[in-house]
Amino acid sequence: MTLLPEGQLYIDGQLRDAAGGATYEDINPWTGEVIAHAADGSVEDMEEAIAAARRAFDHTDWSTNHAQRLELVRKLAELMKVNRQRFVDIAIKETGAAMGAVNMANVDGPLSYFDTLFEIYDGIEWDQAMPDKQAWGSTHRRILVREPAGVVGAIIPWNVPLYITVGKVIPALMVGCTVILKPAPDTPLMSAIIGELAAQAGFPAGVINVVSGKDPALLGEMLVTDARVDVISFTGSTGVGRRIMEKGAPTLKRLFLELGGKSASIIFEDAPNFAEAVGQSIVCYHAGQGCATITRLLVPESRYAEAVMVLEHAYGAYAQMWGNAEDPANFMGPLISARQRDRVMGYIETGIREGARLIAGGKLATGKGNGFFVEPTCFVDVTNDMAIAREEIFGPVLVVIPFKDEEDAIRIANDSEFGLSGGVTSGDEARAIRVARRIRTGTIGVNGGMSMDVDLPFGGYKQSGLGKEWGLAGFEEYLETKALAIRVPA
Ligand code: NAD
Repeated sequence: MTLLPEGQLYIDGQLRDAAGGATYEDINPWTGEVIAHAADGSVEDMEEAIAAARRAFDHTDWSTNHAQRLELVRKLAELMKVNRQRFVDIAIKETGAAMGAVNMANVDGPLSYFDTLFEIYDGIEWDQAMPDKQAWGSTHRRILVREPAGVVGAIIPWNVPLYITVGKVIPALMVGCTVILKPAPDTPLMSAIIGELAAQAGFPAGVINVVSGKDPALLGEMLVTDARVDVISFTGSTGVGRRIMEKGAPTLKRLFLELGGKSASIIFEDAPNFAEAVGQSIVCYHAGQGCATITRLLVPESRYAEAVMVLEHAYGAYAQMWGNAEDPANFMGPLISARQRDRVMGYIETGIREGARLIAGGKLATGKGNGFFVEPTCFVDVTNDMAIAREEIFGPVLVVIPFKDEEDAIRIANDSEFGLSGGVTSGDEARAIRVARRIRTGTIGVNGGMSMDVDLPFGGYKQSGLGKEWGLAGFEEYLETKALAIRVPA
């Protein structure tokens, strides 16, 4: 069994190469070296995948055969767990995850979610009786019928591809949809292995399809514009989310969009663990490549100098701790690609130009080989109108913004086009909850509360997205509700 197979497509029940045999290089972000060749799916391949998914939905009993679905998803879940080491290897070598990040969202988090997903599934009310209604001289018996929404195009990013695949593909399959999974060009293997394991599990042809490709937009846009696709479930940048909305308009595509973030953590002056909370705010997990990563730290003017000092120490200590792939205590590796590295460096240059003060990092990390490494970076004296405070950097960059008082903190936190996650820390829990309720964001932790989990709906306010992943809401994204009324004979 090879740990890193060549990335194949999985279309209409067949594991196969791209039509014409085209492939592209899959790059290891730690070294810049080619680790595998992935199938470069063509228009013809995606066309076949869409047709197969449509056929499987319309002309097989997949959408109604609950028992078969559950059995096959259980089989797939088991195979995924058995193949954990291959997922780990792909997460490290393809996604650039460090071992500490592998143990969390990159591999072990999603692999541990299946039991809860089955429990949530059990809570779906497929036929919900509504009270009888008297109208026009008759009694009307009413039922709300839940049905799968149809063919789902699942378009995912490169940062935590397995986590997002489990969040989208598993609920969609469980409720009876058919799926076409389209990975980001940078992480084809993490999806190819799903195709391989689905084939082993024995899913009916066309129920799940995996189509990778080198071009970032081509295959995804085919899904978005094709009338045979009922739902687009997309996780990625806000810019691409907007384009998907535009391109999906002619077919009035049902969209579920998980987009970018620029989340704020407010640490009040009365936080009993002020230094600890500030010190733990450094952005290092998966090199800051997380949509819900808190990248704006809001600290009170009254303790600003202290906060800056704490961060100088925290970043100083962390400088020795990152960059080793195998160390389970290490959460930070390289950025995914040279392109992403250059984008992050561009923002760092912008921050310096804008007059923010760099207290840590800011440079390409040398001495770690030829990978795409940027030092953990922290800017202080940031104002919320600077580009580095407004735009998603998606790299290891924290910006620190002082606030005057509670109202000012709330104003700054909410002064963003995004609203994905956040945090509030205070010695007065009632105050922290009061403030958390006023932040316009999809998830928020109070005093370190964990607001993201498999049973909690996750999704953005404002331009961070539409709809929810995970929890019961994450299943409802793939369901339609039919109102069925029976006129009872008098
Ligand atoms: P991206 O938006 O560039 O790409 C995401 C996916 O969309 C990829 O599969 C890409 O190939 C595809 N795509 C690109 N152009 C397309 C088009 N015109 N039509 C259809 N599909 C298209 O994002 P990325 O660079 O891969 O990932 C980083 C972004 O993802 C960040 O903005 C991050 O915040 C976001 N993200 C959000 C969440 C969340 O849950 N909100 C989670 C992870 C990442």
